[in-house]
Amino acid sequence: MSLSEAPLSAPVRHLAIVAGGRGTRMAGVADDLPKALVAVGGKPVLQHQLECAAASGIEAVTIFAGHLAHRIAAFVGDGSRFGLRVKVEVETTPLGTAGAVLQALDTLPEHFFIVYGDVMLAVDLAAMGRRHVERTADFTTFVHPNDHPHDSDLLEIDEQGWVVAVYRYPHPEGVFLPNLVNAALYVARRDALRSIGRGGNRDFMQHVLAPLGVSGRRVLAYRSREYVKDMGTPDRLEQVTRDLRDGKLDRGAAHLPAPTVFLDRDGTINEERGFLASHDELELVPGAGRALRRLRDGGFRLLMVTNQPVIARGDACEEEVDTIHRRLAWELGKHGAYLDDIYLCPHHPDSGFPGERPELKGPCDCRKPGTGMFERARRDHPLDVGRSWMVGDRTADIEFARRTGLRSILVRTGAAGKDGKYAAVPNHVAADLGEAAEIVLASTPP
Ligand SMILES: [Zn+2]
Repeated sequence: MSLSEAPLSAPVRHLAIVAGGRGTRMAGVADDLPKALVAVGGKPVLQHQLECAAASGIEAVTIFAGHLAHRIAAFVGDGSRFGLRVKVEVETTPLGTAGAVLQALDTLPEHFFIVYGDVMLAVDLAAMGRRHVERTADFTTFVHPNDHPHDSDLLEIDEQGWVVAVYRYPHPEGVFLPNLVNAALYVARRDALRSIGRGGNRDFMQHVLAPLGVSGRRVLAYRSREYVKDMGTPDRLEQVTRDLRDGKLDRGAAHLPAPTVFLDRDGTINEERGFLASHDELELVPGAGRALRRLRDGGFRLLMVTNQPVIARGDACEEEVDTIHRRLAWELGKHGAYLDDIYLCPHHPDSGFPGERPELKGPCDCRKPGTGMFERARRDHPLDVGRSWMVGDRTADIEFARRTGLRSILVRTGAAGKDGKYAAVPNHVAADLGEAAEIVLASTPP
Protein backbone atom coordinates (compact mmCIF):
# COMPACT_ATOMS: atom_id res chain seq x y z
CA MET A 1 0.00 0.00 0.00
CA SER A 2 1.46 3.40 -0.87
CA LEU A 3 1.18 6.40 1.39
CA SER A 4 -1.53 8.00 -0.72
CA GLU A 5 -3.77 5.02 0.07
CA ALA A 6 -3.11 5.13 3.79
CA PRO A 7 -6.30 5.52 5.81
CA LEU A 8 -6.87 9.19 6.58
CA SER A 9 -9.01 8.35 9.57
CA ALA A 10 -6.18 6.78 11.59
CA PRO A 11 -6.40 8.63 14.91
CA VAL A 12 -3.18 7.20 16.35
CA ARG A 13 -0.24 7.89 14.07
CA HIS A 14 2.83 7.18 16.16
CA LEU A 15 4.48 3.83 16.85
CA ALA A 16 7.11 3.06 19.51
CA ILE A 17 9.13 -0.06 18.77
CA VAL A 18 10.91 -1.57 21.75
CA ALA A 19 13.96 -3.20 20.18
CA GLY A 20 16.53 -3.11 22.96
CA GLY A 21 16.55 -6.83 23.66
CA ARG A 22 19.66 -8.87 23.09
CA GLY A 23 19.03 -11.85 20.84
CA THR A 24 20.13 -14.28 23.55
CA ARG A 25 17.31 -16.70 22.81
CA MET A 26 18.34 -16.63 19.16
CA ALA A 27 21.90 -17.84 19.75
CA GLY A 28 23.16 -19.61 16.68
CA VAL A 29 20.50 -18.05 14.42
CA ALA A 30 21.48 -14.41 14.71
CA ASP A 31 24.68 -14.01 16.71
CA ASP A 32 25.68 -10.69 15.18
CA LEU A 33 22.21 -9.21 14.63
CA PRO A 34 19.80 -7.41 16.93
CA LYS A 35 16.57 -9.42 17.02
CA ALA A 36 14.72 -6.71 15.10
CA LEU A 37 16.94 -7.36 12.07
CA VAL A 38 16.46 -11.13 11.99
CA ALA A 39 14.98 -11.98 8.61
CA VAL A 40 11.58 -13.59 8.18
CA GLY A 41 10.94 -14.68 4.61
CA GLY A 42 13.95 -12.64 3.39
CA LYS A 43 13.09 -9.36 5.17
CA PRO A 44 14.00 -8.15 8.67
CA VAL A 45 11.09 -8.37 11.10
CA LEU A 46 11.55 -4.61 11.62
CA GLN A 47 10.85 -4.00 7.95
CA HIS A 48 7.64 -6.08 8.16
CA GLN A 49 6.61 -3.91 11.12
CA LEU A 50 7.38 -0.63 9.35
CA GLU A 51 5.46 -1.71 6.25
CA CYS A 52 2.46 -2.72 8.36
CA ALA A 53 2.65 0.63 10.17
CA ALA A 54 2.84 2.69 6.97
CA ALA A 55 -0.11 0.78 5.50
CA SER A 56 -2.13 1.54 8.66
CA GLY A 57 -1.70 5.29 8.56
CA ILE A 58 1.22 5.56 11.01
CA GLU A 59 3.40 8.57 10.21
CA ALA A 60 6.18 8.54 12.80
CA VAL A 61 8.13 5.81 14.55
CA THR A 62 10.47 5.88 17.53
CA ILE A 63 12.70 2.84 17.83
CA PHE A 64 14.14 2.26 21.30
CA ALA A 65 17.28 0.29 20.53
CA GLY A 66 20.08 -1.02 22.72
CA HIS A 67 22.15 -4.00 21.69
CA LEU A 68 23.73 -3.26 18.27
CA ALA A 69 21.65 -0.08 17.95
CA HIS A 70 23.99 1.26 15.26
CA ARG A 71 22.97 -1.59 12.95
CA ILE A 72 19.28 -0.74 13.41
CA ALA A 73 20.00 2.95 12.78
CA ALA A 74 21.96 2.11 9.62
CA PHE A 75 19.13 -0.09 8.37
CA VAL A 76 16.23 2.35 8.83
CA GLY A 77 17.96 5.64 8.07
CA ASP A 78 15.38 8.43 8.42
CA GLY A 79 12.57 6.03 7.48
CA SER A 80 11.64 7.85 4.30
CA ARG A 81 12.08 4.76 2.13
CA PHE A 82 9.24 3.20 4.16
CA GLY A 83 7.10 6.34 3.92
CA LEU A 84 7.69 7.10 7.61
CA ARG A 85 9.65 9.47 9.83
CA VAL A 86 11.83 7.21 11.98
CA LYS A 87 13.97 8.16 14.96
CA VAL A 88 16.26 5.73 16.79
CA GLU A 89 16.80 6.30 20.52
CA VAL A 90 19.73 4.43 22.04
CA GLU A 91 19.24 2.90 25.48
CA THR A 92 22.58 2.82 27.29
CA THR A 93 21.47 0.62 30.18
CA PRO A 94 18.79 -2.03 29.61
CA LEU A 95 15.45 -0.79 30.99
CA GLY A 96 13.15 -3.75 30.29
CA THR A 97 10.33 -3.61 27.79
CA ALA A 98 8.81 -0.42 29.18
CA GLY A 99 11.61 1.53 30.85
CA ALA A 100 12.86 3.47 27.85
CA VAL A 101 9.32 4.36 26.71
CA LEU A 102 8.40 5.64 30.18
CA GLN A 103 11.52 7.81 30.29
CA ALA A 104 10.76 9.25 26.86
CA LEU A 105 7.08 10.14 27.46
CA ASP A 106 7.66 13.85 26.90
CA THR A 107 8.86 13.14 23.36
CA LEU A 108 5.81 11.03 22.48
CA PRO A 109 2.36 12.25 21.34
CA GLU A 110 -0.90 12.01 23.29
CA HIS A 111 -1.64 8.49 21.98
CA PHE A 112 0.83 6.02 20.51
CA PHE A 113 1.24 2.34 19.67
CA ILE A 114 3.86 0.14 21.28
CA VAL A 115 5.18 -3.11 19.82
CA TYR A 116 8.19 -5.24 20.69
CA GLY A 117 10.94 -5.48 18.11
CA ASP A 118 10.67 -9.27 17.74
CA VAL A 119 6.95 -9.39 16.95
CA MET A 120 5.54 -10.19 13.53
CA LEU A 121 2.20 -8.54 12.98
CA ALA A 122 -0.41 -8.16 10.29
CA VAL A 123 -2.90 -5.89 12.01
CA ASP A 124 -5.08 -3.03 10.85
CA LEU A 125 -3.57 -0.58 13.34
CA ALA A 126 -5.92 2.19 12.22
CA ALA A 127 -8.91 0.13 13.41
CA MET A 128 -7.23 -0.69 16.72
CA GLY A 129 -6.28 2.94 17.29
CA ARG A 130 -9.83 4.07 16.49
CA ARG A 131 -11.22 1.67 19.08
CA HIS A 132 -8.74 2.91 21.70
CA VAL A 133 -9.73 6.53 21.12
CA GLU A 134 -13.49 5.93 20.80
CA ARG A 135 -13.58 3.97 24.06
CA THR A 136 -11.43 6.63 25.78
CA ALA A 137 -9.05 3.95 27.02
CA ASP A 138 -5.94 4.68 29.06
CA PHE A 139 -4.21 1.63 27.69
CA THR A 140 -5.35 -0.88 25.06
CA THR A 141 -3.88 -4.31 24.67
CA PHE A 142 -4.25 -6.67 21.72
CA VAL A 143 -5.58 -10.01 23.03
CA HIS A 144 -6.27 -13.44 21.64
CA PRO A 145 -6.63 -17.04 22.86
CA ASN A 146 -3.42 -19.02 22.62
CA ASP A 147 -2.31 -22.62 22.45
CA HIS A 148 -0.45 -22.65 25.77
CA PRO A 149 -2.65 -20.77 28.28
CA HIS A 150 -1.32 -22.84 31.19
CA ASP A 151 2.08 -21.19 31.08
CA SER A 152 0.94 -17.72 29.99
CA ASP A 153 -0.19 -14.60 31.82
CA LEU A 154 -3.98 -14.47 31.36
CA LEU A 155 -6.51 -11.64 31.37
CA GLU A 156 -10.05 -11.49 32.65
CA ILE A 157 -12.26 -8.96 30.87
CA ASP A 158 -15.80 -7.79 31.52
CA GLU A 159 -18.60 -7.70 28.95
CA GLN A 160 -17.54 -4.27 27.73
CA GLY A 161 -13.99 -5.47 27.10
CA TRP A 162 -12.32 -3.78 30.10
CA VAL A 163 -9.57 -5.73 31.81
CA VAL A 164 -10.69 -6.53 35.37
CA ALA A 165 -8.03 -9.01 36.46
CA VAL A 166 -4.59 -10.15 35.45
CA TYR A 167 -3.42 -13.65 36.34
CA ARG A 168 0.33 -13.97 36.25
CA TYR A 169 1.87 -17.33 35.44
CA PRO A 170 2.30 -19.82 37.19
CA HIS A 171 -1.37 -20.60 37.86
CA PRO A 172 -2.61 -22.60 40.86
CA GLU A 173 -4.13 -26.06 40.39
CA GLY A 174 -7.89 -26.40 40.16
CA VAL A 175 -8.72 -22.95 38.77
CA PHE A 176 -10.16 -22.41 35.31
CA LEU A 177 -8.96 -19.15 33.90
CA PRO A 178 -10.02 -17.50 30.65
CA ASN A 179 -7.79 -18.36 27.71
CA LEU A 180 -7.03 -14.78 26.79
CA VAL A 181 -3.46 -13.57 26.53
CA ASN A 182 -2.07 -10.18 25.70
CA ALA A 183 0.15 -9.99 22.66
CA ALA A 184 2.97 -7.45 22.77
CA LEU A 185 1.00 -4.81 20.89
CA TYR A 186 -0.49 -1.91 22.81
CA VAL A 187 -1.91 1.60 22.45
CA ALA A 188 -1.17 3.98 25.29
CA ARG A 189 -2.57 7.32 26.36
CA ARG A 190 0.61 9.13 27.31
CA ASP A 191 -0.67 10.89 30.40
CA ALA A 192 -2.06 7.67 31.87
CA LEU A 193 1.51 6.34 31.97
CA ARG A 194 2.83 9.28 33.98
CA SER A 195 1.65 7.71 37.23
CA ILE A 196 3.96 4.76 36.71
CA GLY A 197 7.32 5.01 38.44
CA ARG A 198 10.00 5.20 35.80
CA GLY A 199 13.21 4.32 37.64
CA GLY A 200 15.14 1.35 36.28
CA ASN A 201 13.81 -1.79 34.68
CA ARG A 202 10.12 -1.64 33.77
CA ASP A 203 7.97 -4.25 32.04
CA PHE A 204 4.68 -3.53 30.24
CA MET A 205 2.84 -6.51 31.68
CA GLN A 206 4.15 -6.26 35.23
CA HIS A 207 4.49 -2.52 35.73
CA VAL A 208 1.94 -1.04 33.32
CA LEU A 209 -0.92 -3.31 32.28
CA ALA A 210 -1.39 -5.22 35.54
CA PRO A 211 -1.31 -2.25 37.95
CA LEU A 212 -3.43 -0.04 35.69
CA GLY A 213 -5.94 -2.89 35.24
CA VAL A 214 -6.31 -3.68 38.92
CA SER A 215 -6.42 -0.02 39.95
CA GLY A 216 -9.54 0.50 37.89
CA ARG A 217 -7.91 2.49 35.11
CA ARG A 218 -9.38 2.06 31.66
CA VAL A 219 -7.42 -0.87 30.24
CA LEU A 220 -9.18 -2.13 27.14
CA ALA A 221 -8.77 -5.58 25.59
CA TYR A 222 -8.81 -5.44 21.78
CA ARG A 223 -9.74 -8.95 20.72
CA SER A 224 -8.93 -9.83 17.15
CA ARG A 225 -8.06 -12.81 14.99
CA GLU A 226 -5.37 -10.78 13.22
CA TYR A 227 -1.81 -12.06 13.27
CA VAL A 228 0.52 -11.08 16.14
CA LYS A 229 3.27 -13.51 17.11
CA ASP A 230 6.71 -13.15 18.62
CA MET A 231 9.50 -14.79 16.67
CA GLY A 232 12.14 -14.50 19.39
CA THR A 233 13.20 -18.15 19.59
CA PRO A 234 14.44 -20.43 16.77
CA ASP A 235 11.22 -22.53 17.03
CA ARG A 236 8.96 -19.51 16.81
CA LEU A 237 11.00 -18.04 13.98
CA GLU A 238 10.42 -21.24 12.05
CA GLN A 239 6.67 -21.14 12.81
CA VAL A 240 6.34 -17.48 11.79
CA THR A 241 8.29 -18.12 8.59
CA ARG A 242 5.89 -20.97 7.77
CA ASP A 243 2.87 -18.78 8.56
CA LEU A 244 4.18 -16.06 6.25
CA ARG A 245 4.67 -18.56 3.45
CA ASP A 246 1.14 -19.95 4.01
CA GLY A 247 -0.41 -16.49 3.65
CA LYS A 248 -1.49 -16.15 7.30
CA LEU A 249 0.09 -12.70 7.48
CA ASP A 250 -1.93 -11.09 4.75
CA ARG A 251 -3.50 -8.02 6.28
CA GLY A 252 -7.22 -8.63 6.30
CA ALA A 253 -6.87 -12.42 6.10
CA ALA A 254 -8.58 -12.62 9.48
CA HIS A 255 -11.68 -10.97 8.01
CA LEU A 256 -12.06 -13.22 4.96
CA PRO A 257 -14.67 -16.01 4.88
CA ALA A 258 -13.04 -19.01 6.51
CA PRO A 259 -13.64 -22.75 6.33
CA THR A 260 -15.32 -23.51 9.63
CA VAL A 261 -16.20 -26.55 11.69
CA PHE A 262 -19.33 -26.20 13.82
CA LEU A 263 -19.21 -28.51 16.79
CA ASP A 264 -21.82 -29.83 19.14
CA ARG A 265 -20.74 -29.96 22.79
CA ASP A 266 -22.13 -32.80 24.93
CA GLY A 267 -21.37 -36.24 23.53
CA THR A 268 -19.11 -34.74 20.86
CA ILE A 269 -16.36 -32.68 22.55
CA ASN A 270 -17.06 -33.78 26.12
CA GLU A 271 -18.56 -36.99 27.44
CA GLU A 272 -22.36 -37.12 27.62
CA ARG A 273 -23.46 -36.91 31.28
CA GLY A 274 -27.22 -36.62 31.03
CA PHE A 275 -27.76 -32.91 31.54
CA LEU A 276 -24.37 -31.49 32.46
CA ALA A 277 -25.09 -29.00 35.24
CA SER A 278 -21.71 -28.66 36.95
CA HIS A 279 -18.16 -28.25 35.74
CA ASP A 280 -17.09 -31.12 38.04
CA GLU A 281 -18.74 -33.53 35.63
CA LEU A 282 -16.95 -32.24 32.56
CA GLU A 283 -14.61 -34.68 30.90
CA LEU A 284 -13.30 -34.44 27.34
CA VAL A 285 -14.01 -37.26 24.90
CA PRO A 286 -10.61 -38.96 24.48
CA GLY A 287 -8.72 -37.36 21.59
CA ALA A 288 -11.05 -34.33 21.36
CA GLY A 289 -8.37 -31.77 22.26
CA ARG A 290 -5.93 -33.15 19.74
CA ALA A 291 -8.68 -33.27 17.09
CA LEU A 292 -9.48 -29.57 17.55
CA ARG A 293 -5.81 -28.68 17.41
CA ARG A 294 -5.47 -30.67 14.16
CA LEU A 295 -8.43 -28.80 12.65
CA ARG A 296 -7.05 -25.40 13.64
CA ASP A 297 -3.63 -26.27 12.24
CA GLY A 298 -5.48 -27.25 9.07
CA GLY A 299 -6.86 -23.71 8.79
CA PHE A 300 -10.37 -24.24 10.18
CA ARG A 301 -12.22 -21.84 12.42
CA LEU A 302 -13.93 -23.67 15.29
CA LEU A 303 -17.38 -22.64 16.56
CA MET A 304 -19.36 -24.54 19.16
CA VAL A 305 -23.16 -24.60 18.90
CA THR A 306 -24.91 -26.15 21.87
CA ASN A 307 -28.49 -26.58 23.09
CA GLN A 308 -28.50 -25.98 26.85
CA PRO A 309 -32.07 -26.53 28.05
CA VAL A 310 -30.58 -26.96 31.55
CA ILE A 311 -30.87 -23.18 31.79
CA ALA A 312 -34.59 -23.03 30.96
CA ARG A 313 -35.24 -26.03 33.20
CA GLY A 314 -33.59 -24.23 36.11
CA ASP A 315 -30.97 -26.97 36.55
CA ALA A 316 -28.05 -24.63 35.94
CA CYS A 317 -27.82 -20.85 35.85
CA GLU A 318 -25.95 -18.91 33.17
CA GLU A 319 -23.00 -18.47 35.55
CA GLU A 320 -22.60 -22.21 36.02
CA VAL A 321 -22.76 -22.76 32.26
CA ASP A 322 -20.08 -20.06 31.90
CA THR A 323 -17.93 -21.93 34.40
CA ILE A 324 -18.44 -25.16 32.46
CA HIS A 325 -17.28 -23.39 29.30
CA ARG A 326 -14.33 -21.87 31.10
CA ARG A 327 -13.30 -25.32 32.29
CA LEU A 328 -13.85 -26.71 28.79
CA ALA A 329 -11.51 -24.05 27.40
CA TRP A 330 -8.97 -24.83 30.12
CA GLU A 331 -9.06 -28.58 29.36
CA LEU A 332 -8.78 -27.94 25.61
CA GLY A 333 -5.87 -25.60 26.29
CA LYS A 334 -3.93 -28.54 27.74
CA HIS A 335 -3.96 -29.96 24.21
CA GLY A 336 -3.09 -26.68 22.53
CA ALA A 337 -6.68 -26.27 21.30
CA TYR A 338 -9.27 -23.53 21.59
CA LEU A 339 -12.67 -22.57 20.22
CA ASP A 340 -13.11 -19.29 18.36
CA ASP A 341 -16.58 -18.75 19.75
CA ILE A 342 -19.45 -20.42 21.58
CA TYR A 343 -23.15 -20.12 20.75
CA LEU A 344 -25.77 -21.54 23.02
CA CYS A 345 -29.53 -21.87 23.06
CA PRO A 346 -30.81 -21.56 26.66
CA HIS A 347 -34.43 -22.36 25.71
CA HIS A 348 -36.64 -25.39 26.07
CA PRO A 349 -39.91 -25.95 24.23
CA ASP A 350 -41.87 -27.84 26.89
CA SER A 351 -43.22 -26.33 30.09
CA GLY A 352 -44.09 -28.10 33.32
CA PHE A 353 -40.81 -28.71 35.14
CA PRO A 354 -40.48 -27.63 38.79
CA GLY A 355 -38.02 -24.74 39.13
CA GLU A 356 -38.15 -23.85 35.44
CA ARG A 357 -37.73 -20.33 34.09
CA PRO A 358 -40.92 -19.44 32.21
CA GLU A 359 -39.26 -16.64 30.21
CA LEU A 360 -37.01 -19.23 28.52
CA LYS A 361 -39.79 -21.69 27.78
CA GLY A 362 -41.49 -22.05 24.45
CA PRO A 363 -40.36 -22.20 20.85
CA CYS A 364 -37.28 -20.30 19.66
CA ASP A 365 -35.30 -20.11 16.44
CA CYS A 366 -31.99 -21.08 18.02
CA ARG A 367 -32.58 -24.53 19.46
CA LYS A 368 -30.95 -27.01 17.02
CA PRO A 369 -32.06 -28.04 14.48
CA GLY A 370 -33.26 -24.43 14.28
CA THR A 371 -30.74 -22.29 12.44
CA GLY A 372 -30.60 -19.24 14.74
CA MET A 373 -27.15 -20.02 16.13
CA PHE A 374 -25.81 -20.55 12.60
CA GLU A 375 -27.16 -17.15 11.51
CA ARG A 376 -25.59 -15.41 14.52
CA ALA A 377 -22.28 -17.20 13.96
CA ARG A 378 -22.24 -16.26 10.30
CA ARG A 379 -22.70 -12.59 11.16
CA ASP A 380 -19.80 -12.71 13.64
CA HIS A 381 -17.45 -14.91 11.62
CA PRO A 382 -17.53 -14.66 7.82
CA LEU A 383 -18.03 -18.18 6.62
CA ASP A 384 -16.94 -20.22 3.62
CA VAL A 385 -20.05 -22.42 3.64
CA GLY A 386 -18.87 -24.69 0.84
CA ARG A 387 -15.84 -25.74 2.91
CA SER A 388 -17.57 -25.88 6.28
CA TRP A 389 -18.87 -28.72 8.40
CA MET A 390 -21.06 -29.71 11.33
CA VAL A 391 -19.97 -32.47 13.71
CA GLY A 392 -22.38 -33.83 16.32
CA ASP A 393 -23.76 -36.93 18.01
CA ARG A 394 -27.49 -36.27 17.67
CA THR A 395 -29.92 -36.33 14.76
CA ALA A 396 -30.73 -32.67 15.55
CA ASP A 397 -27.10 -31.84 14.66
CA ILE A 398 -27.41 -33.61 11.32
CA GLU A 399 -30.75 -31.91 10.58
CA PHE A 400 -29.14 -28.56 11.54
CA ALA A 401 -26.42 -29.25 8.96
CA ARG A 402 -29.02 -30.12 6.32
CA ARG A 403 -30.93 -26.88 6.91
CA THR A 404 -27.79 -24.70 6.85
CA GLY A 405 -26.02 -26.33 3.90
CA LEU A 406 -23.11 -27.64 5.96
CA ARG A 407 -21.64 -31.05 5.34
CA SER A 408 -22.20 -33.27 8.36
CA ILE A 409 -20.43 -35.93 10.34
CA LEU A 410 -22.23 -38.02 12.93
CA VAL A 411 -19.94 -39.21 15.72
CA ARG A 412 -20.60 -42.54 17.43
CA THR A 413 -19.90 -41.10 20.88
CA GLY A 414 -22.61 -39.65 23.16
CA ALA A 415 -26.07 -40.33 21.73
CA ALA A 416 -24.38 -41.85 18.63
CA GLY A 417 -27.31 -40.74 16.47
CA LYS A 418 -29.73 -43.15 18.20
CA ASP A 419 -32.09 -40.49 19.58
CA GLY A 420 -34.42 -41.03 16.62
CA LYS A 421 -35.80 -37.47 16.46
CA TYR A 422 -34.91 -36.49 12.88
CA ALA A 423 -34.41 -38.53 9.75
CA ALA A 424 -31.58 -36.49 8.18
CA VAL A 425 -28.72 -38.63 6.88
CA PRO A 426 -25.12 -37.54 7.68
CA ASN A 427 -22.51 -37.23 4.93
CA HIS A 428 -20.09 -39.28 7.03
CA VAL A 429 -20.09 -41.33 10.21
CA ALA A 430 -17.02 -41.34 12.48
CA ALA A 431 -16.11 -43.27 15.61
CA ASP A 432 -15.34 -40.04 17.46
CA LEU A 433 -14.21 -36.44 17.04
CA GLY A 434 -10.65 -37.53 16.28
CA GLU A 435 -11.79 -39.56 13.28
CA ALA A 436 -14.20 -36.78 12.27
CA ALA A 437 -11.31 -34.31 12.17
CA GLU A 438 -9.36 -36.58 9.84
CA ILE A 439 -12.39 -36.87 7.54
CA VAL A 440 -12.75 -33.08 7.46
CA LEU A 441 -9.06 -32.59 6.72
CA ALA A 442 -9.05 -35.25 4.00
CA SER A 443 -12.27 -34.23 2.23
CA THR A 444 -12.32 -30.42 2.22
CA PRO A 445 -11.34 -28.96 -1.14
CA PRO A 446 -8.39 -26.53 -0.94
ZN1 LIG B 1 -33.15 -21.09 21.67
